[in-house]
Amino acid sequence: MAPQIKYPAKYYEKSSDRNVKCLLCPHGCKLKPGQTGLCLARRNIDGELASLNYGQVTSLALDPIKKKPLKRFRPGSLILSAGSFGCNLKCSFCQNWRISQQQPPAETFTPEQLVSTAREAAKLGNIGLAYTYNEPSIWYEFVYDCAVLAHKQGLKNILVTNGYINREPLQELLPYIDAMNIDLKAITENFYHKMCKGKLDYVKQTIALGASACHVEVTTLLIPGYNDDEKEIAELAQWLASVSEDIPLHLSRHHPDYHMPEPQPLNKERLMELAQLARQSLKYVYIGNV
Ligand code: SF4
Repeated sequence: MAPQIKYPAKYYEKSSDRNVKCLLCPHGCKLKPGQTGLCLARRNIDGELASLNYGQVTSLALDPIKKKPLKRFRPGSLILSAGSFGCNLKCSFCQNWRISQQQPPAETFTPEQLVSTAREAAKLGNIGLAYTYNEPSIWYEFVYDCAVLAHKQGLKNILVTNGYINREPLQELLPYIDAMNIDLKAITENFYHKMCKGKLDYVKQTIALGASACHVEVTTLLIPGYNDDEKEIAELAQWLASVSEDIPLHLSRHHPDYHMPEPQPLNKERLMELAQLARQSLKYVYIGNV
């Protein structure tokens, strides 16, 4: 008899010879027994897909909500922010690669323990839980269980995400999510393909679905020479405005990291000019990392 796995994953199908196909995100990893998905967070164990990062918390902090960044959702409040490990995009400029592309030491939490920590922190001004630091959509089962429990206890749930998730799992989670900050890394397929090993259209789909269900803000990390072209910023802002001109856009400076020691960050004046350009389409545009 196959050993029972501790944390079964949702959203996958089995095929012949104990192979599985993960259906959580657009990569659709096909995994033989023993193989781990591209996100590092899901593994085929004897013909069943398991979540490897369920309850594995690598980072935990009580952060100001503006750091998520969320400017127009409960401004001034604090949010208990938790992250695990793994990511389903492979951005060469990743600002958090130590937990997104590796498996650092973690502390184990049950959903009850994390939600109870969040409730304790309410005395200090905490309003709920933010799933952040690494990619929360590939922490799916744990995030879902925590989010359901947190809502029952009157807490808010926030996702800080790359938006790279399939429609069905996203729709199952959205009723429990109050706010999202979604990365829109650029407005070209070329950028997503070359720099992140992903596809833009799925991220657009998440932004549109998210905005119809909860408060959404969007972040674009600007890398000089890669995604700071004026025409592209105008196009990005226009596309976002076609979803809603009320969606706040954060244009943030990157810092050289991971596989990209160059270029140096954008200068502040240029960042302000690009923000001004985006304001032609959107009501709320903020600059970040300045
Ligand atoms: S969630 Fe992970 S295992 Fe599943 S398809 Fe995406 S990258 Fe592959």
